[in-house]
Amino acid sequence: MPAKSVNDIVALCKRRGFIFTGSEIYGGMGGTYDYGPYGVELMRNIRNAWWNAMIYSRNDIEGMDASVITNRLMWKYSGHEGSFSDPLVECKKCGARMRQDKMKDPTKCDNCGSTDITEPRAYQLMMGLSIGAMANGEINAYLRPETATTTYVNFKNVLDSKPHKLPFGIAQIGKSFRNEISPRGFVFRMREFEQAEMQYFVNPAEDEKYFEYWKKMRLAWWVDTMGIRSEKLRFKPHEKLAHYAKAAVDIEYDFPDGFDELEGVHNRQDFDLGSHTKGQDEFKLAAHVMENKDSTTKLAYSDAQTGETFIPYVIETAMGVNRAMLAVMLEAYEDEDLGDGKTRTVLKLKPWLAPVKAAVIPLVRNIPEIVDLSNKIVEDLRRLGIGKIELENSGNIGKNYRRHDEIGTPVCITVDHQTLEDGTVTLRYRDSMEQIRINKDDVVKSVLDIVNQK
Ligand code: ATP
Repeated sequence: MPAKSVNDIVALCKRRGFIFTGSEIYGGMGGTYDYGPYGVELMRNIRNAWWNAMIYSRNDIEGMDASVITNRLMWKYSGHEGSFSDPLVECKKCGARMRQDKMKDPTKCDNCGSTDITEPRAYQLMMGLSIGAMANGEINAYLRPETATTTYVNFKNVLDSKPHKLPFGIAQIGKSFRNEISPRGFVFRMREFEQAEMQYFVNPAEDEKYFEYWKKMRLAWWVDTMGIRSEKLRFKPHEKLAHYAKAAVDIEYDFPDGFDELEGVHNRQDFDLGSHTKGQDEFKLAAHVMENKDSTTKLAYSDAQTGETFIPYVIETAMGVNRAMLAVMLEAYEDEDLGDGKTRTVLKLKPWLAPVKAAVIPLVRNIPEIVDLSNKIVEDLRRLGIGKIELENSGNIGKNYRRHDEIGTPVCITVDHQTLEDGTVTLRYRDSMEQIRINKDDVVKSVLDIVNQK
């Protein structure tokens, strides 16, 4: 049986050390979570899978990593300072504050059902900072609410240091911060979260072609690399487009409470480079931008063949890494009925996403030859550099298997008395629970085959 609700994942995450409540021992801090030993590995593997698809497998996309503390002016010209806000209403009876656009019924309090509700007011989502000795509490910087804008302002830096012809992209993975009114759904909506965003700069004549191209590429990645069944994913075009967007679609996942956004693919036209460029008047911009007298740099592209200088369009792919992890865990989670009243919980993750790639279990701990051989297998596996390899020394084989099923370890290797006699070890597969004996010298190859399997 798959996960019935996100609560199944919440319980597993706490029990097995994937995710904990932020600042837990002091009563928590709304909208923040801390990642434990296995959560940190799963997040890292998801990031790596994205980086691999976006950068290592292509010639046309570069990576970068910008600061999360940013100059206020960046968000003035991006439009965030003026309009990055949600409509907030307050219930006069119970005091609950809610995002009006997310209420079940906008005339009734979600919490107590009262109809005595205030008019909506704009609520700034960016977290302001007061930085430096002279600031005196005045907001002069923001924690970035997305990675994208910090990419646009580096367009010229990247292009000057690594020349590219259009189309080309710049990708970033990093933390973003939003003062969400109602964080919810575990790590679905947080105040501090991680994004993996790629900005693809194209000739304006080719925007529609590349918008379709990236929709297709990103959907295929969720299925082939993340292991999400295609029937659990759908495209949802935005009903109301942002003023700068020519087209926008969400990739949605069928969460236990219904379809919701995992990633956005957007055609942002020339709004972003056009907003932040110096000398806006020299360009015929399609998007409506705020006049910019502060930018020191032209964010334009010169075509060596036509001699034309223009502002490229941007096709953006914007994914939340924490949401990706939640979807991947929901998709992999199974409560299996083993008969005779026995059950097991198993995370059937793609092996490359598994927090632990293999666990080695010495069946008896007081026989030095068994312990030494187990250590030797662990060392051989660690030399492969494929991720975390664990040595178990708790002794109880049943408990070990159960724990590794729950954290998604694709294979366990058990060393026992027979190993000392005939040189074989037991390989135990997570999904089928099948156990086979193989020669100890074949362990490295078998584990590599398992980790690389599609
Ligand atoms: P939403 O409509 O859910 O608020 P958004 O459309 O504002 O999201 P984008 O700004 O396009 O989201 O951000 C790209 C991705 O970042 C989203 O698809 C989502 O996966 C992730 N994301 C956005 N806000 C949050 C958040 N508060 N917590 C966790 N992930 C988020």
